[in-house]
Amino acid sequence: MRRPVVAGNWKMNPPTADEAIALAESAEVAAAESPLVTTVICPPMIWLRDVARAVPGVHIGAQTMHDEERGAFTGETSPLMLVGIATFVILGHSERRQYDGETDERVGRKVASAVAHGLYPIAAVGERAEERRAGQTEAVVERQVRAALAGLDRLGGTGLVIAYEPVWAIGTGDAATGEDAQKVAALIRGLLRELDPSAADEIPIQYGGSVTDANAAEFFTQPDIDGALVGGASLKPDVFAAIVAAASAASNA
Ligand code: PEP
Repeated sequence: MRRPVVAGNWKMNPPTADEAIALAESAEVAAAESPLVTTVICPPMIWLRDVARAVPGVHIGAQTMHDEERGAFTGETSPLMLVGIATFVILGHSERRQYDGETDERVGRKVASAVAHGLYPIAAVGERAEERRAGQTEAVVERQVRAALAGLDRLGGTGLVIAYEPVWAIGTGDAATGEDAQKVAALIRGLLRELDPSAADEIPIQYGGSVTDANAAEFFTQPDIDGALVGGASLKPDVFAAIVAAASAASNA
């Protein structure tokens, strides 16, 4: 059985190290209460090491990284810098694609680099509102998944997680339905099966996009959804804890 992965993407929050550590400590309590769930927090890069030292009981993820190990890349963070601090790294988040020009091909290079350095990639894919309206959801998701995994020669044992995040659902309060998210997760599972039949059933597929304590169970009870990538709600300790608990309850059911 797949272990659910619930990851909190804090984005550019909170503004101080003390607040980051306090938030991380509450996530650590939530993680301890749900040992069947892999609970991950993804603080801003500048708080990563302080948070990792403060909360050994929760997995740490970075929100992005460069694919190169070193060089003239102002403001960037390399995989070598993350090793030993972060276990996971979110790659291809729609905000990076939108504001930083991250292309499908670039996401693929980053995923391959993360795996080469022993970091577990959370590869984020999902269609924009206009693509959904044009009936292109499946085509977009398939293109993004294939590109994200193009540099891997195997999927098994890589720690790979796929996050299906419809862009129109991120930060809008307008989550997908469990049924619609399941349809896309099943499509992703099919692609994984084609790429690496022996590993496809091991790889967690998350849903992300306005997940809260009120709707989490609707996603976690779907057969191909194994956790969530949580943005806004991961900044609210009680809500994040309830989402982790919902993943635990669904994996016990
Ligand atoms: C995200 O940014 O990955 C996300 C899912 O955000 P939110 O939960 O706020 O929609």
